[in-house]
Amino acid sequence: MPSDRPTFLASLGVARRINAAGTLTRLGGALMDEAVLAAMAEAATSSVDIAELQSAASARIAALTGAEAGLVTSGASAGLTLATAACLAGWDAARMSALPDTSAMPSKVLMHRTHRNSYDHAVRLAGAHIVDFGHNDRGTGAGVRGIEPWEIEAAVDPQTVACVFVASTGNEADLRTVVEVCHRRGLPVIVDAAAQLPPRENLRRFTALGADLVVFSGGKALGGPQSSGLLIGRRALVGSALLQMMDMDVHPRTWAPAALVDTAALTGTPLHGIGRGFKVGKEEIAGLLCALERFVSRDDKAVQAGWTQRLQAIAQALADVPGLGVRLLPAGAHKAVPMLELRPLAPADLLCRTLHAMPVPIHLGEGAMDEGVLTLNPMTVRPTDDALVVASIRQAVQACAEPDSASANP
Ligand SMILES: *Cc1c(COP(=O)(O)O)cnc(C)c1O
Repeated sequence: MPSDRPTFLASLGVARRINAAGTLTRLGGALMDEAVLAAMAEAATSSVDIAELQSAASARIAALTGAEAGLVTSGASAGLTLATAACLAGWDAARMSALPDTSAMPSKVLMHRTHRNSYDHAVRLAGAHIVDFGHNDRGTGAGVRGIEPWEIEAAVDPQTVACVFVASTGNEADLRTVVEVCHRRGLPVIVDAAAQLPPRENLRRFTALGADLVVFSGGKALGGPQSSGLLIGRRALVGSALLQMMDMDVHPRTWAPAALVDTAALTGTPLHGIGRGFKVGKEEIAGLLCALERFVSRDDKAVQAGWTQRLQAIAQALADVPGLGVRLLPAGAHKAVPMLELRPLAPADLLCRTLHAMPVPIHLGEGAMDEGVLTLNPMTVRPTDDALVVASIRQAVQACAEPDSASANP
């Protein structure tokens, strides 16, 4: 899309920005391609039965991920709430209707201490009570232990319904331990893999390791609509999650449930469930399916090589900027996306604020800002913007070096 054409966003006075910080939700997530837009446009101008569309989506997602079933959600966070709701309620219509009130049902969800993060609010939202277990031995450098089977065993009681595991690069051994112990105790394992793509193999990895439910963001690397996500896993749990998200303003005598709904196990026709507010539109379902197909069929190595090549060119163009260290962080076994590390002589936050105040604001990764390091992630930067990224960084570094740094105090 040409960046200089008058746009609807411009008519609102909303700035065009270049996001070199990665697929951050607050910066709009991934950029969609034309094929995904076309799928969304077709869905947007068609009437469909959402249950039929989600059933078809499930079959397609299953084929592409190796999971038993799948569901398009309104994001990974919504997926965590729905996954938790499925583990709390199963096919019990009364429990579905009671959530988030869990006073009359088992409601404990286990989480390892080092996995607690701000998205556990999504788990608590369903009515679950999180029970911590374990230590942060490795994280603090105090020791060598990961998750121990006995720590999980000691935390399980009759009120426990599931365990939530947050996937990160290098914690696969811990996941094996959690799956082994939880399955022995009849407990499902929910994996938050929201940002664990690429590599595309991860679409299959967690269910293959035994996870019962796995969530992914649709608006991050998958390149789907920003407000979309995937929930994949066991058919019965995915079906319960779907039912708790559906519009249930139905007549029980004419209701045509989605194929994933086990009508024999279901205790009645539930009302609107806990997920009714996480409505996922036909546009998002079509868009995410199209994005998923494209993501699965693309050549990860070629995409990675393309990113590396662009970063090398940017690094070279910035090499002579005084007061700026630039280094390529190459892709590798534990790093699917190559990045540039920028080390300004000026305070890193000053450089960020200067870049944010430019005519086309540029956003860099701020995760290591306290160490004076900023990162440049190519995923959400259009190749046609690379030259502007270089020119803007050059100009901003120079502005930061000037004594009054006027542009840094907008
Ligand atoms: C981004 C993210 C989420 C939320 O994903 P959305 O699709 O934006 O709802 C949840 N968990 C983790 C670990 C994430 O990185």
